[in-house]
Parts: sequence; C-alpha cells; structure tokens
Amino acid sequence: SLSDRLAQTLTNLRGKGKLSPADVDGTVREIRRALLDADVSLDVVKAFTGAIRERALGDDVNKALNPAQQVVQIVNEELITILGGQQRRLEFAKRPPTVIMLAGLQGAGKTTLAGKLAKWLKKEGHTPVLVASDLQRPNAVTQLQVVGEQAGVPVFAPEPGNGVGDPVKVAKNGVKFAEDKQYDTVIVDTAGRLGVDADLMKQASNIRKAVDPDEVLFVIDAMIGQDAVATAKAFQDGVDFTGVVLTKLDGDARGGAALSVASVTGRPIMFASTGETLDDFEPFHPDRMASRILDLGDILTLIEQVQSAFDEKEAAEIAEKFATDSFTLDDFLKQMQQLRKMGSIKGMLGMLPGAKGMREQLDNFDEREITRTEAIIQSMTPQERANSKLLNGSRRLRIARGSGMTVTDVNQLVNRFEQAAKMMKTVAKGGVPQVPGMGPI
Ligand code: GDP
Ligand code: MG
Repeated sequence: SLSDRLAQTLTNLRGKGKLSPADVDGTVREIRRALLDADVSLDVVKAFTGAIRERALGDDVNKALNPAQQVVQIVNEELITILGGQQRRLEFAKRPPTVIMLAGLQGAGKTTLAGKLAKWLKKEGHTPVLVASDLQRPNAVTQLQVVGEQAGVPVFAPEPGNGVGDPVKVAKNGVKFAEDKQYDTVIVDTAGRLGVDADLMKQASNIRKAVDPDEVLFVIDAMIGQDAVATAKAFQDGVDFTGVVLTKLDGDARGGAALSVASVTGRPIMFASTGETLDDFEPFHPDRMASRILDLGDILTLIEQVQSAFDEKEAAEIAEKFATDSFTLDDFLKQMQQLRKMGSIKGMLGMLPGAKGMREQLDNFDEREITRTEAIIQSMTPQERANSKLLNGSRRLRIARGSGMTVTDVNQLVNRFEQAAKMMKTVAKGGVPQVPGMGPI
C-alpha cells in the first residue's frame, strides 16, 4: 500500500546523521514511485516531490540534529498541503435552510452519505431533511427512505403534486418543503451513472441552478483509481462543486487517485466515509489523513525515541562489549536505567498495531523492577559485577540479605542478565541499540 511504501522509504533514511544530495534524490525517487503506484496523478506527484526535494536539500535540514526526522516532517507537511491544508467546515446559510447537494458517479456512495450526513447533522443540533432527486433508478427513492429512517430524519419523496418524474422539480419542492416546515438543512440526493454522462451532468447542473445550494459535495469512491482525476474534472466542468467527500476509505484502496482530486480541482476534502453503516463517517482532517498515510510518523518517532534514550557513543561501546563478551552487570544496570528515559514509550506503542509483543514486555517492565535491580547489583562486589560467573550460592545469599531481596530474586536477575548478554551478542553487529529483555523493534 501507499503507506507501507512511504514508510519503508522513509525508514531507510533513519540512522543517517547527514543526508547527502544523493540520499535526498534517492528518497524523493522512491516517494515518487510509491505515489505513482498508488495512482496519484503525475502532476500532483511532480509538485509534491519537487517541494520535498527543495526543502530537504535546504539549509534547515542539513543543520537539523536529525535530518531523517526532518525529511519525514517535510513529507508530512507537504502531504497535508495536497490534502487541502486546513480542515474546511460546512458553510451554513445565513437564512435557513442550508442546501447541500450531492453529486457523483453511481455507486460512489451518495445515498449512503445522505443518511450519514443527516445523522451527523442531527447530532450537531440541526434539523435536516432528505430530498430524493435520484429518479433514475427504480429503487433509488426507497433506498433513500430506508436511510432516512435509519437516521431518523424525514425524506421528501416525489409524490403526485410535488414533481413526479422531474428531479429538478422534486429538488425545488423539497427546499420549499423545508422552508415551510422549518427544517434548517436540506440534503439533495441526485442520480449518477457508471461513467460520466452528458445528460446526467446536465440534470445535476439544472438541479444546482434551481436550488442554488450552499454546498455541492462531489462524492468519490477512494477505490476508483486513475479515473478519479478525469471524473472529478468532468464534474467540476459540468456541475462544479464546493467540496469533496471520499468514500470507502475502509476498503483496501490505493487511495492515491482520490488524493489527487483535492489538488487537481482546488476543492477541499470535507468528509470521509469509512464503511456501510451510518456511523462510519467523519469530518475530514488533512493532518490526520496525512499521518494515516504516513503512519510511519508514529513509528519513526518511536524509533527516534528509543534511539535517543541511548547515547550513541555509549551504545557503540555497549555493542562492542556485547561482541567481545565483556558486558557486565554494571552495564546491565546502566541499560536498565536508560529505560527510565523512555517514559512515554508505552503510550506510543498503543498506536502501533504490530508492537503488541513489545508493549506486553514493557508492561511487565515496571519502575519497581528497576529499583530492585539497582538494589541487588549495588550489593555485589565490583569483582562480582564484572564477572557474574563468580556468583555461587553463598554469594547470592549474601547479596539477597544485603539488598533486602530473596535468593530467588537474585537468581532471576542473574538469569535475565545472562540471557540478555547472550541475545545481545547475536545482534551486536546490527548497529541498532537493543534493550535487554525487549525483542527487536
Ligand atoms: P450512490 O449510487 O452514489 O448513491 O451509492 P450508494 O450510497 O448506493 O452506495 C453504493 C454502495 O456502496 C452501497 O452498497 C453502499 O453500502 C456502499 N458504500 C457506500 N459508502 C461506503 C463506504 O464508505 N464504505 C463501504 N465499504 N461501502 C460503502
Ligand atoms: Mg444513490
């Protein structure tokens, strides 16, 4: 997926102290490839990668303490920009009702969205009414009625006298109905075709002219692929819209094409639809979407945090000790104390689905254990700390008494130390500092 590819690309940068122009170019090339593979349109990719390259080669990055982290930050910011920058809220009419018209291809999720939006508006304290202006499909009106019932809002359907057979009249009468009955928002559902179609575009355009909506929301399926940009442009030319709604974000969509829509049309994404039930719906936040795409943001921060908890020089020394078998209980104690620095790490692990094992280990690793370890190791002689092989039964009993622990506690600690030393020896050549008692990240 797009997220995975970007994550991999940016993860490759980590650990680089300084970025060369070649590093930046390589990274930008990978990002470009990942975006194109995810169906982001070429123009958008060019603008995006151009901006990243320029900023990544700039002074700020080279002076930064951690250039890789800085590049991730830049990618994130530029992604938020192509997603529309600030979150855009619905514009409500000064004089109700506010009219919201939905447009888009058949199957995009308009009718479902009408219900979602109505339910959400109701929760926000509004009094919405749905208007069935899709008269194209035989069951379209019924479908809207079902959705309206689920949302607990009324549906204005074409009946004799209010515009049977004429979607423009139905829309007009629907708005008039809302005015009369004092509903404060009107959501107009419209028809779509599988492909862009001149007649239906004209119909949508006529509905727009007739009801003069405050918002026209272009509804687009995130799974649509490369057709997204052409479809969006056709709707912009044919009907024009004030905002975009991305649907089916719950699917396995490459999603990149839909991302291009905001950039290509200059219209903000306003809502996201993430499932079939009416509650699978939320206002769209460009920054949250960017972090979702880049969920590596969390991963990288986590890695950074783990890394920065270890002084790099110290980590190198320890790695050397592991490799040469001279890692001592004193070193072990030092490493345990480093864990304290990672205070917020547990919370961050909550964000990472893959980190369950590590999270459990950290859960078992509490402050008291560090304190106990300190007490035990400090009760050892310098010779014992340097060489755990000296720790026979009588020495262990003496240490237990001296530290106020039991012999079992002492045994457990020594075992853990020996296991850690063994494990670390095998990974010592890897370069990334590892924490005894925790698996690789
Ligand atoms: P319309 O033709 O534009 O009115 O589209 P519909 O609202 O009838 O939706 C078409 C299909 O997509 C229906 O089966 C919906 O249940 C489904 N659907 C709509 N939105 C979503 C969504 O966000 N996620 C998923 N998984 N399915 C959706
Ligand atoms: Mg429909």
